[in-house]
Amino acid sequence: MLPVVAIIGRPNVGKSTLVNRLAGGRDAIVHDQPGVTRDRTYRPGFWQDREFQVVDTGGLVFDDDTEFLPYIREQALAALTEASVAIFVVDGQAGPTDADQEIASWLRQQSVPVMIAVNKCESPELGGALAAQFWELGLGEPYPVSGIHGNGTGDLLDVVIAHL
Ligand code: GDP
Ligand code: MG
Repeated sequence: MLPVVAIIGRPNVGKSTLVNRLAGGRDAIVHDQPGVTRDRTYRPGFWQDREFQVVDTGGLVFDDDTEFLPYIREQALAALTEASVAIFVVDGQAGPTDADQEIASWLRQQSVPVMIAVNKCESPELGGALAAQFWELGLGEPYPVSGIHGNGTGDLLDVVIAHL
């Protein structure tokens, strides 16, 4: 199996948009097999001669157990468990939120290496400063990116493949 890159974050930060940038091809939905939690979308990715799979996950919400939110958490954990590296996507225009802090402390308890992608940083003038707000999450260097415009994704992928 190709190495897995898991995309994690709260709702609406731009995870799926970023996945569309980082991966080619179409969603390949792998459904649960009996006894195996595997109901996530996998997309093939390719960078500098390295092949991998990108797994999109639903938006993580920890303080609410209604509807399918516990299921999304279970899926995100399953994605992390099989991942070589996780990309924690945050919203640079919103700045760090309590929900981001909660996800960060959950991610620090996992054994997978985590990179922070600060999305919505399409402004070349502001991107660096928006990203710098996220050092406080305690997960290392935040990388400014824009899933919509594509900037920063090459630098992000350079570090991602170093973890594969
Ligand atoms: P997800 O819920 O984390 O998967 O987020 P989506 O990919 O569905 O995007 C949520 C919203 O953020 C949508 O309205 C997107 O158009 C917007 N969005 C995603 N990426 C960017 C970006 O790079 N810049 C800006 N300004 N908006 C973005
Ligand atoms: Mg999404």
